[in-house]
Amino acid sequence: MTRRISILGATGSIGQNTLDLIKRDPDSYDIVALTGGCNVAQLASDAIALRADVAVISDETLLHQLRDALAGSGVEAASGASALNDAASRPADWIMSAIVGAAGLAPGWRALEQGTTLALANKESLVTAGPILMQHAACHGARILPVDSEHSAVFQALVGEDIAAVERIIITASGGAFRDLPIAALNTVTVAQASSHPNWDMGQRITIDSASMFNKALELIETKEFFGVRPDQIETIVHPESLIHALVGFNDGALMAHVGPPDMRHAIGYALHWPQRRDLPVARLDLAQIGQLNFRALDGDRYPALALASRVMEEGGLTGAAFNAAKERALDGFIAGDIGFMDMARVVAVTLDKMSAHDGLQKATMSLDTVLEIDRLARVRAGEVIAQIGT
Ligand code: NAD
Ligand code: MG
Repeated sequence: MTRRISILGATGSIGQNTLDLIKRDPDSYDIVALTGGCNVAQLASDAIALRADVAVISDETLLHQLRDALAGSGVEAASGASALNDAASRPADWIMSAIVGAAGLAPGWRALEQGTTLALANKESLVTAGPILMQHAACHGARILPVDSEHSAVFQALVGEDIAAVERIIITASGGAFRDLPIAALNTVTVAQASSHPNWDMGQRITIDSASMFNKALELIETKEFFGVRPDQIETIVHPESLIHALVGFNDGALMAHVGPPDMRHAIGYALHWPQRRDLPVARLDLAQIGQLNFRALDGDRYPALALASRVMEEGGLTGAAFNAAKERALDGFIAGDIGFMDMARVVAVTLDKMSAHDGLQKATMSLDTVLEIDRLARVRAGEVIAQIGT
């Protein structure tokens, strides 16, 4: 039986890896919707090749180009935020949420309303709106499967286990592009240097977030929200080889580690075929050749983002939405050359200070609307902080 599949963020790194798996077995899938931000050529060529029902480009100015590219193919063209949400509402059995940033929250929210399976790469959804997202899924009989490699690893280590027997979850971190650079040198690193990852091939934003550890900060919050554990049960360790993706420690002292090559097609494929395992086109590890695996403790001075994650987990409420939006705005500022690499954490910290004092992050009720409003406000506040630093 064919399965109906939609991919939100199809033109990105996760989207393309998902399509790579689907293209190897096209007869098993009916593609409902593919969406992209601005890469019309990629979106149109994938939509035509896989005979998607609809292709949606977020940037409305590109609708004409998309229509031209799809002319005569039978694939419907659409654009804009509401078309994106409509695409997420089209009946599908499995929907990949792989838009980058808080922009992925609303379409994923809509997808859950059809009671489907949402493969969640968009970690920002859980960081900004974790408690209500999980509740929303439960209310609609939908299922969320983790796609982030660490969370897929934990999910797999928990198969057949009782979450009550879990003592701790250890999320590994490669340490990113600058793990061996002297801390003083971090102030002057360039965008190009921060955009290259030692082990993983990913989108630019998550790659820079890996160098700053903001990605790991998001993942710690994601762990808390998805698995429902306490912040003090979540640990991070630097593991430069990126072969162990996470470990789960149980109350009998056992640690279950998930080991595999750094290839997102594993986690995507696991979510695609769950609860079964199927053959996947990922490398098989040669342990003798690898020889050894290394671990080191995290240096909090090098990675101030991690202390901010602890703060978000402690404060709860809408702090996650403010944190993520301030982080996204600070990242925009770094990419634009307005602030330095280490300024990103400063911008986020100052934004959180200002907002927790005045904008009632912990008191306000969490709903999709309040999350989106805090997201908007935090970007404005972070922009003000960036303007002050830049002058
Ligand atoms: P990417 O930048 O390569 O792709 C992002 C996709 O979202 C593209 O299709 C882009 O066009 C689209 N997009 C961007 N802004 C948009 C907007 N405002 N509205 C609608 N669409 C928009 O990113 P990626 O590396 O594939 O990451 C996607 C998500 O998966 C992120 O949340 C990331 O944290 C997570 N993730 C990625 C990896 C990885 O290996 N790349 C691993 C784990 C988790
Ligand atoms: Mg990850």
